[in-house]
Amino acid sequence: MTVTIDGTGSRFVDEALFVADPAGGWALRGSRCDSCGTVSFPAQQSCPKCTGSAVSEIALPTRGTLWAYTIQGFPPKTPYLNADERPFRPYAVGYVNLGDEILVESRLIADDVDSLEVGDALQLVLEPIRTGDDGAVYTFAFAPSTGPETEVTS
Ligand SMILES: [Zn+2]
Repeated sequence: MTVTIDGTGSRFVDEALFVADPAGGWALRGSRCDSCGTVSFPAQQSCPKCTGSAVSEIALPTRGTLWAYTIQGFPPKTPYLNADERPFRPYAVGYVNLGDEILVESRLIADDVDSLEVGDALQLVLEPIRTGDDGAVYTFAFAPSTGPETEVTS
């Protein structure tokens, strides 16, 4: 099954990573252990802490704070998608604290990666990793929060 996220054939790189956000838009799909409350991302079939098999799917918060990060200063190895369309620029990757002891590893989108600071308010965004005649393929990233009203949309 392909998730059409904007009516043009665009889709997620892995639809198992996403779930409709009850507040609108999309959220990351996590799981919460029914026994001990441990939250996991990506969603797990069993609890990594207590090994319990009763877990519930949840939509993770779409906002968090930057917990730690690093700047990737050299291109990934081939095959590097869109090398012609999007020449390599240094980018940031880091851990985003979504509360409840949830740290999500993510690419960080920023106009100036040198401006990022631990503790920055971030929000989930959908980032195209490839575009084509049949639509774009999206993955998730986090970007500086632009305000409390902003929803995650594609
Ligand atoms: Zn557990």
